[in-house]
Formats: sequence, structure tokens, C-alpha cells
Amino acid sequence: MLIKKCERCGNKIGWLKVFISIMSGFRNIRCDECKTEYYIIASYRLIIVLGASFPLFIRDQILKVFSPQFYSILAIIWLLFIISLSPFLLRTYVKKR
Ligand SMILES: [Zn+2]
Repeated sequence: MLIKKCERCGNKIGWLKVFISIMSGFRNIRCDECKTEYYIIASYRLIIVLGASFPLFIRDQILKVFSPQFYSILAIIWLLFIISLSPFLLRTYVKKR
């Protein structure tokens, strides 16, 4: 399921809520209305982490062509891009009680 609505009560789960969860180390996302806890699927956490650290893997290639300053700016822009996109990429599940 794509994070948009609560599965149980249909309450909207905002982008900001997901964003905060990611920034605090993939904390569970809780629905404000019915208190259902959503867990982020581990493989999607990995995708975000790998995606965000992608510039590190191609650092040498970039530095052959561009200056370190340019690389830093590029890495920061990339990081912001991935983080702002990640709430749309993540999938969650509800832990059965
Ligand atoms: Zn709910």
C-alpha cells in the first residue's frame, strides 16, 4: 500500500508525517485517528538508504570531471531529492495484534 490513507479509518496520513518518520530513523507512523501503527517494510528502508547514499558510490567518477565543491552541492541536492521523494516510494504494513 502506498502511504496516503489509513487502512482502518481512512484518515489521511500526510507527507510530512512520513517525512518525519524517515528523518527520525524510520520510526513507525501512527494514524492520528485510530492509533493504528504502520511499519515501514525493511526492504524499502534499504532502498531509501542506498538511494540517498548513491553519490558516495560514484564520487570518484564525479570528481574526475567536477570540483569537490560541485560534488558537495550535487550530493546535497540529491539527498534532498531522495528524502522528499521517499514518502511516495515507501510501503508499509500493519502489525497484527
Ligand atoms: Zn486510522
